[in-house]
Amino acid sequence: MKKEFVVIGLGRFGGSIVRELVEQGMEVMAIDKFEDKVDEFSQIATHAVMADSTDEAALRSLGIRNFDHVIVAIGDDIQASILTTLMLKEIGVKKITVKAQNDYHEKVLERIGADKVVHPERDMGKRIAHNIVSNNVLDYLELSDEHSIVEIAANSLLIGNSIIELDIRAKYGINIVAIKRGDDIIVSPQANDVIQKGDILIVIGADNDINRFEKRVM
Ligand code: ADP
Repeated sequence: MKKEFVVIGLGRFGGSIVRELVEQGMEVMAIDKFEDKVDEFSQIATHAVMADSTDEAALRSLGIRNFDHVIVAIGDDIQASILTTLMLKEIGVKKITVKAQNDYHEKVLERIGADKVVHPERDMGKRIAHNIVSNNVLDYLELSDEHSIVEIAANSLLIGNSIIELDIRAKYGINIVAIKRGDDIIVSPQANDVIQKGDILIVIGADNDINRFEKRVM
């Protein structure tokens, strides 16, 4: 069965979520309080509706409870974002994902029961910063405030060494969980696996330790 989504707020973020979900064949109801936004998405979303999501009666009349997943993508109006999330909770929506504008907003959203809080600007900023500091860092995924998974392109300091020779677990406290080699992915590489040219190492660890590794080896 097709999943049914609601996206509230059709700015750059909400708009791209709508497009991507539709592309993946999902049913999407797109909501914004401004008519021009609704018009923009009337040909793209399954339904595009003009409504103010802080108006509980309006939300209920759209039958929002019956959807699988509601994404709150209201940008600058933090108060409206919080109020909307609170009402979606009260209405009994199964899954709510909310875009946070800052750390304080994120905390509040978690407290009031958002199932998932995303912080795309901050995450992208961190990613790009890692990428700028080290050309070899390809991608970056935050696991917690202190832990991450990082993709690192093998450079001349790494190529030709086995994992045990590099001994990065003992030296830096981080682990190579996989190696991407062409189309292959070597999960849990062995101690005697040798890093080859073109390899991408997928490394997990504490941010401090990963930073130390990036500085020394990159
Ligand atoms: P972005 O940074 O993703 O572009 P914006 O703040 O520009 O975010 O866009 C948020 C969208 O959310 C706007 O189109 C705005 O009209 C819409 N919006 C804001 N408040 C509400 C609300 N209470 N109900 C419905 N839509 C809203």
